[in-house]
Amino acid sequence: MADNTRQVRVGGVPVGGGAPVSVQSMTNTDTRDAAATTEQIQRLQQVGCDIVRVAVPDEAAADAVGKIRQKISIPLVADIHFDYRLALMCIENGADKIRINPGNIGGADRVREVADMAGKYRVPIRIGVNAGSLEKDILKKHGGPTAAALLESARTHAKMLEDCDFYDIVLSLKASDVPTMIDAYRLASQTMAYPLHLGVTEAGTYEAGVIKSAVGIGTLLAEGIGDTIRVSLTDDPVREVDAAIEILNALAFRKSGVTMVSCPTCGRCQIDMIPIAKEVYRLTRGMDKAIKVAVMGCAVNGPGEASDADIGIAGGNGEGLLFKKGQIVAKVAESEIVAALIREIEEM
Ligand code: SF4
Repeated sequence: MADNTRQVRVGGVPVGGGAPVSVQSMTNTDTRDAAATTEQIQRLQQVGCDIVRVAVPDEAAADAVGKIRQKISIPLVADIHFDYRLALMCIENGADKIRINPGNIGGADRVREVADMAGKYRVPIRIGVNAGSLEKDILKKHGGPTAAALLESARTHAKMLEDCDFYDIVLSLKASDVPTMIDAYRLASQTMAYPLHLGVTEAGTYEAGVIKSAVGIGTLLAEGIGDTIRVSLTDDPVREVDAAIEILNALAFRKSGVTMVSCPTCGRCQIDMIPIAKEVYRLTRGMDKAIKVAVMGCAVNGPGEASDADIGIAGGNGEGLLFKKGQIVAKVAESEIVAALIREIEEM
């Protein structure tokens, strides 16, 4: 969302320069298995992923990039380490963006070859600096993977592309330590004009990873820093997209999609509310409707607490009270609550 950054285009998705913050994820299938990777990308797209990245460790994976590209309709990013020939292959095969660090590909001539090819195909390059793989001299100078060290690495890689007159750059400065990551991105936003891809790297399994990502990414977005986000989880990447979208929803960065509120339940609740709320969330998360849905445990506080919701359910005694804009409009049996609510939402 930062409007003081340069804008690049990743396929049809603008990144930076005031464009809406886009959601990214990365497949965890074997990229060489184009069918399985395509299937996973389609699942990611269904839940709202804007840009998807695949790992390209070898030539077979670079070949698969071409096949996958033809079968999907969201931009595809090829993630390459060290081998500049794979970058050239992926650009020719239709990748919409390349993630590669120019300092790691074996010299200025190779950087120029990649930059020239990327320029010819109008493919941006993301420089992905990671606290776990900083250059030895930078680590020594800064005494460890500090925010300043991440920034210096990003600057060094960016300079190599700038020396080739290539500026369609996206930067990431990821660390698993959230305060370091926040500081690094703040420094980058103060000193560099390239759009920023936010993420907490190696954030962990779902429970801890979502919170670390929400704190790190959310803090920066709330400060107006960041143009595209990726939540990294040791889990199904669909959950990364769900989490990323929830971060954007929490900050009111997205104006489409269902916003759900649900109460924590308490001793007043007389229905089995938690599975009902989870099912409503699952069924509404991909819906392209800008509405607020409330799932509340009781009618004492339910409609009142959710009075600004467009539609909702408040639990009664073995039943649910359907309400619209805070007014109860129908009663349904507990077993019918989810179906009744979804039917109403679909009609809205
Ligand atoms: S809506 Fe009712 S059940 Fe839910 S927390 Fe409030 S009082 Fe408790």
